[in-house]
Amino acid sequence: MVDLKGQYNLIKNEVDKAVLDVIESTSFINGPSVKLFQKDLEKYLGVRNVIPCANGTDALQICLMGLRLIPGDEIITTDFTFASTVEVIELLGLTPVLIDIDPVSFNIDIDAVKKALTSRTKAIIPVHLFGQAAKMDELMEIADENNIFVIEDNAQAMGAKYSSKDGTIKKTGSIGHLSATSFFPSKNLGAYGDGGAISTNDDNLAEYIRGIVNHGMYKRYYHDVVGVNSRLDSIQAAILKVKLKYLDDYNERRKKAASLYTELLINHPNIITPKVISGPNSHVFHQYTIRIVDKNRDKLVEYLNKKNIPCGVYYPVPLHSQKAYKNSSYNEKEFTITNQICKEVISLPMHSELKKDQVQYIVENILSFIREN
Ligand SMILES: *Cc1c(COP(=O)(O)O)cnc(C)c1O
Repeated sequence: MVDLKGQYNLIKNEVDKAVLDVIESTSFINGPSVKLFQKDLEKYLGVRNVIPCANGTDALQICLMGLRLIPGDEIITTDFTFASTVEVIELLGLTPVLIDIDPVSFNIDIDAVKKALTSRTKAIIPVHLFGQAAKMDELMEIADENNIFVIEDNAQAMGAKYSSKDGTIKKTGSIGHLSATSFFPSKNLGAYGDGGAISTNDDNLAEYIRGIVNHGMYKRYYHDVVGVNSRLDSIQAAILKVKLKYLDDYNERRKKAASLYTELLINHPNIITPKVISGPNSHVFHQYTIRIVDKNRDKLVEYLNKKNIPCGVYYPVPLHSQKAYKNSSYNEKEFTITNQICKEVISLPMHSELKKDQVQYIVENILSFIREN
């Protein structure tokens, strides 16, 4: 699905030197590389504050902790994403309100958000799923009108540019009140281990959150709030600082591979290809995900695997149906899209080193499966 080795080989000298420099310095925890990467990422995103942390799941949890919410407060989020979002909401004793998605973008459905609002709603967590920006204009409007927060889950969309209705173009991760991202190795900006970050333009929130990630300390050994220990490792920060320079190039290559897939698969009666919604650069194709209609998706997965073509099903089960998150208050009629989409989606190999002939080979095999089945 990804080619981490191929990508590493192209920047090996630079990365190796950055890692060795950290080891030589022995500044393993909160060394200078962490601050340097933080500054670079602030500049890249166009955001006032980045707070590095240990991983993307922590980043989401810390965003919620930063909002000083109390048990019973409701957080609206998508039914179709990785489990982190709903997991941290539950862990903090908050109430997740899972809602259906838009079938074209796979992102949170705006009408469903409006329907889910109550007097206890405190935040919305849109996920820029598969690398495509969610409808941030509409979400920020709803947040303004209802005096609630928007936390972007930017784990899959680092580098995506959202075109606003007012003509401005902003990076995802710089639009909501808070944003959480992940540097898991396979993400568009991936470390060589775990990593994550929070970003915000609100200086007060940033100050509060800098304490939360460090055991609730604002002054050494004085603990003002209950915090966590969540740090970005100095070695990972040094690697990320190198890789950030190449991110736009990596994303361009992903977009090229995506265009080629789409060119070869579009207008097929059994395939629905992805559509880019909010401006030409609003999708950075963390995944290239198609829908298989009126053919057996699971059989296609088996078929491709037999030909040694990797593929993934993100995600096979909607969150509201997961054992851990089932809840009798959910009504299946409100999840018609996620229930259907989970049976149809398949994500094809996608990374910055994907070659034209590889895409062609993958497509040929998908088409021959459809012909034969
Ligand atoms: C990867 C991912 C996360 C979690 O990131 P980790 O660094 O693995 O904790 C959260 N949300 C989404 C949408 C992700 O893709």
